[in-house]
Amino acid sequence: MAPKISFDLKATDGKARTGVINTPRGEIRTPAFMPVGTAATVKAMMPESVRATGADILLGNTYHLMLRPTAERIDRLGGLHKFMNWERPILTDSGGFQVMSLAGLRKLTEKGVTFKSHVDGSKHELTPERSMEIQKLLGSDIVMCFDECPALPADRDRIAESMRLSMRWAERSREAFGDRPGHALFGIMQGGLEQDLREESAEALTKIGFEGYAVGGLAVGEGQEAMFDCLDYAPGFLPEDKPRYLMGVGKPDDIVGAVARGIDMMDCVLPSRSGRTGQAFTRYGVVNIKNARHQDDPRPLDEKCSCPACSNYSRAYLHHVFRSNEMISGMLLTWHNLHYFQEIMSGMRDAIAAGTFDAWQKDFHDTRAQGDIERL
Ligand SMILES: [Zn+2]
Repeated sequence: MAPKISFDLKATDGKARTGVINTPRGEIRTPAFMPVGTAATVKAMMPESVRATGADILLGNTYHLMLRPTAERIDRLGGLHKFMNWERPILTDSGGFQVMSLAGLRKLTEKGVTFKSHVDGSKHELTPERSMEIQKLLGSDIVMCFDECPALPADRDRIAESMRLSMRWAERSREAFGDRPGHALFGIMQGGLEQDLREESAEALTKIGFEGYAVGGLAVGEGQEAMFDCLDYAPGFLPEDKPRYLMGVGKPDDIVGAVARGIDMMDCVLPSRSGRTGQAFTRYGVVNIKNARHQDDPRPLDEKCSCPACSNYSRAYLHHVFRSNEMISGMLLTWHNLHYFQEIMSGMRDAIAAGTFDAWQKDFHDTRAQGDIERL
């Protein structure tokens, strides 16, 4: 029998859930945080280092990879897993969101989107069918439906029209994806901050039927309060026995709040991007390593963290290499940030399984409220 992707929900605590997504390329423990490997690399990290932080799955970007080095070239070279030396599961986005945010001269029709590459100005087309083809060429384990995501705020008519187009595209994505045992297709719920549109979208997707469901169209400028308001109801419209993925989120407290509202998977560039700009996320909040207060500080970034940056280096060293534009700066801070994000995820998984998620959340927020350690 062909291997299948399945989801085992192991425990719930309030609305929070923990489980395992089984794939032919290994288990994905949920709640899961997916580091972003935009151009077939999590910037400044070796794949084995990403795995060492505790990541079970990576995200790859269809838009970037279709333009450079192209999906056809990656296919000829054996697929994305082999190309980037990551044997575990990969989720690819559909390209739709990044066409909207990065490409020039877009034209949106019922068929799809035509646009100009931000790399070299060349003209391309993305449709549900082409997005499915690209994600298949890449060899993605979890494929996302092609959708359209309006920036918020947008008026209700625009959001409704866009959501209904995305639902028609979801049906075409399902059709084009075909029967691919061992690979999953996730539908994407849209509807902005309108509860009835979210419900309509969830009903349309559930009727088509997917192996998992994403809450799309959030973390696009609406702010945490509005996002949490939406997450108070949106995940509840989706089937309980399938994974729920919140796209493009977020900061540590966004992640914790999303899991508390029933989300199982998330991705964000924040830990890696911030690592390269000298920003570290710690249990005591954000530390800007470029700040002069660290230049004589022999203490680690976080004395309780077991990552290489905290085990082997001082704040003074991290400050020095950042100020000197040394590559190891981005490497160490990215490693620390990814390690910290994965530590949050494993902490939540354990707490949900133990039925102590409320206490875990209180400790998470209390510790952050203390702020960074006193300066020397
Ligand atoms: Zn660390």
